[in-house]
Amino acid sequence: MGMNPRARLGTHLRRGSVDFSEPLKIVQTNAVIQLAEIHKIYHTGEVDVPAVRGVSLEILPGEFVAIMGSSGSGKSTLMNLIGCLDRPTRGNYRLDGIDVSTLDRNALADIRNQKIGFVFQGFNLLSRTTALENTEMPMLYNRHRTPAHEQRERALRALELVGLADRADHKPNQLSGGQQQRVAVARALVNQPSLILADEPTGNLDSQTSIEIMGVFQKLNDQGITLVMVTHELDIARYTKRTVVLRDGKIVTDEPVRERLNAETELRHLRQAQQAIKLSS
Ligand code: ADP
Ligand code: MG
Repeated sequence: MGMNPRARLGTHLRRGSVDFSEPLKIVQTNAVIQLAEIHKIYHTGEVDVPAVRGVSLEILPGEFVAIMGSSGSGKSTLMNLIGCLDRPTRGNYRLDGIDVSTLDRNALADIRNQKIGFVFQGFNLLSRTTALENTEMPMLYNRHRTPAHEQRERALRALELVGLADRADHKPNQLSGGQQQRVAVARALVNQPSLILADEPTGNLDSQTSIEIMGVFQKLNDQGITLVMVTHELDIARYTKRTVVLRDGKIVTDEPVRERLNAETELRHLRQAQQAIKLSS
């Protein structure tokens, strides 16, 4: 699904352990996310709300997927399930090959912390805390404590990756919205997850800043990180590689992105256009 067999094999080869006797079998268990007939019903008071209704979805390493759909279609519910923040009412979910329904709360929290980085619409940074300290935060929840100097180094490296190393000691109110979201992305990266989940990451940002964040995501994706992002903006989805559209809790389309946009190129064009306006005024 979503990738041709050659591309799958390519992903597999890059990962190293090649067994030519049974390549396809290995490749099939390679999925980062494997949802089979997933349902989520919210039981609230008198009514049951079926928010996700039989979703099957496979996402392979190196994919960059946009989950789309109108408000109430089940996007956030699905993301919470994928992120192990909630459990399905029915169906099977394998994360990196692990059947997460077999895990208890602690094991689930561990796996979430190791394998997944989260980015939210509202950035969710601690306000009295520097960019560096915000970025270090997920490491505080690791079972094996990372030494302080190593925490610092890893956080700085993550801030470098998002182009914010020079703002490490700034607090959120000293940063623009786009910069705050970069800190949030650095925080998501700091435990070196194989998967980044982002729910409407550009929802609070203007269009140029949104493209900058997509640039960061594209760069991370080029480095091999798998990304799944909720958005309701069509032009933002065009920076991803695959679009999955939900309606009433079901997948209605699942297609590769044609004529994919490159954030660097789009930003260059934007700056040129802005320059031209300046010169003519
Ligand atoms: P989206 O993110 O696409 O807007 P959601 O996943 O938030 O959609 O919601 C899907 C449906 O589930 C909606 O009808 C919503 O009202 C309902 N819903 C979401 N969260 C809860 C909850 N915690 N309790 C009850 N119903 C919920
Ligand atoms: Mg939502």
